[in-house]
Amino acid sequence: VTAVPAGHTRRMPWELVVLGTASQAPTRHRNHNGYLLRAGEEELLFDPGEGTQRQLVFAGVSPSRITRICLTHLHGDHCLGLPGVIQRLSLDRVTRPIPLYHPASGAPFVARLRRASIFDDVTDIRPHGVTDAEVLDRTEVIELSTRPLRHRVDSVGYRVAEGPHVNFDVDALERAGVRGPDVGRLRRDGAIEVDGRTVRIDEVSVTTPGRVVAFVMDTAWCDAAIELARDADLLVCESTFLSENEELAEQYGHLTARQAAEIARLAGAKRLLLTHFSQREPDTARYVAEAAEVFPDVVGAEDLMRLTISPGSHLVAPV
Ligand SMILES: [Zn+2]
Repeated sequence: VTAVPAGHTRRMPWELVVLGTASQAPTRHRNHNGYLLRAGEEELLFDPGEGTQRQLVFAGVSPSRITRICLTHLHGDHCLGLPGVIQRLSLDRVTRPIPLYHPASGAPFVARLRRASIFDDVTDIRPHGVTDAEVLDRTEVIELSTRPLRHRVDSVGYRVAEGPHVNFDVDALERAGVRGPDVGRLRRDGAIEVDGRTVRIDEVSVTTPGRVVAFVMDTAWCDAAIELARDADLLVCESTFLSENEELAEQYGHLTARQAAEIARLAGAKRLLLTHFSQREPDTARYVAEAAEVFPDVVGAEDLMRLTISPGSHLVAPV
């Protein structure tokens, strides 16, 4: 009897909740950075900038469900919200272990943010310093990996990848004559007799690739950004500058909207979300227009935007 193929289960929804989209300084319409990726049972918080706790409230997201925290680097716009989030977790009596990933050289700053003020601390935050490309964790739901990027200070990007998914091919089931309660029996037993013939589950199953979301925050152009975004369903990428300021972008270790689009194109990503906008340029449409010349499937992030990440497609629609 054939065993049930791994992953022959229902897919859980994946959703990105954009909490903030500003770089150096927030504006009336843009909070500092912050992104929550809900990947089935995993809720990963990326770069909680100042005000993230309140943005979670506005987004209707319970902080107590956060399973991991990922910092790309220790500039304030990516981490000053960490004390508030940790203290909120403590207030909500969240005691399960929560990994906190960050560039290793940022450890002294992480330690200060971890205990930035007096509070009744019941949390079990587990810092993990990153020095090189590595797979940080592999669960039944996701594989989380990281790579160093190229910024003025140590900075890393992240990649969240789902394993390939196996499920019934409806047409193949029909052709094999498997219907009604037989479908459940086939899933349970791995093989079934239909009209004197054996149908094995792998004959009527189809494998589709898992979902991938990549986070490329503060960095100048680098190959690691392309590797992180390889075949991603969604690349969340900083685009602090427009091409007219490409020299400034290089000088300050940032990307232009055009460069972000080049990364998405070279990586074979399906959709690009531009974010981390400079307070100098309030018109997001200019970033999107510039990127769209290189990579058409591009969206400019807005605070509290939600994106559904659909399996095997790029039906990733802003809601
Ligand atoms: Zn930044």
